[in-house]
Amino acid sequence: MRLVILGPPGVGKGTQAKKISELYNIPHISTGDILRQAVANKTPMGLKADGFMKKGELVPDEVVIKLVEERLQQSDCKRGFLLDGFPRTIHQADELNETLEKIGIPLLKVIQLDADDEEIVMRLTGRRYSPSSGKVYHIAFNPPKVPGKCDVDGSDLIIREDDSEGTVRNRLKVYKEKTKPLINYYTEKNLLVNINAESSIDDITRDIIQVLQGIIAIK
Ligand code: AMP
Repeated sequence: MRLVILGPPGVGKGTQAKKISELYNIPHISTGDILRQAVANKTPMGLKADGFMKKGELVPDEVVIKLVEERLQQSDCKRGFLLDGFPRTIHQADELNETLEKIGIPLLKVIQLDADDEEIVMRLTGRRYSPSSGKVYHIAFNPPKVPGKCDVDGSDLIIREDDSEGTVRNRLKVYKEKTKPLINYYTEKNLLVNINAESSIDDITRDIIQVLQGIIAIK
């Protein structure tokens, strides 16, 4: 199971990636999560990434490529992995190919989640997040049991700095310019599967599992 989950910000990549990685017992590698952790810890990488992330811009390719290359070398990736939020540019995708070819483990599938822009703005501006547990909620569609508190560890939920409406619209613009070309890129490589992500969280998971089971059956 060597997978990429691709799609605009807020389409539910993180939520689905968490479920799928638990189900198939493979590491969930979210470049956004790793970068946010680095920003919180004020590491050199975090200090470099912070300004770009606040504005909803992409962090420079060389920073994220190095991060992912190092992560993929770790032994838990031998059984597979699920990349979430990477690649986001053609250059990142080329570098990923090269790295995986070197290790001898090409990608199996790229799962593209798709939703309408206004649906995305609504989802992101209602999103709440626990920095300590990493769990993500939505005030209307996936609320915590106690408002404002994480179900897992009771920590206070926060709004991500880049989930304000202005920044969300900028992230969508960046997605269209820099990341959307990857849809053609992976279609040409015969790796892309498209899944409509406007239904419920469980329905989307079921659709993804169906696709993955089909692949396993063919192999
Ligand atoms: P995400 O949590 O995937 O929405 O990512 C949050 C932010 O982290 C993005 O808006 C970018 O600033 C940065 N980021 C995450 N992944 C990448 C990537 N592959 N390339 C460049 N920037 C990234």
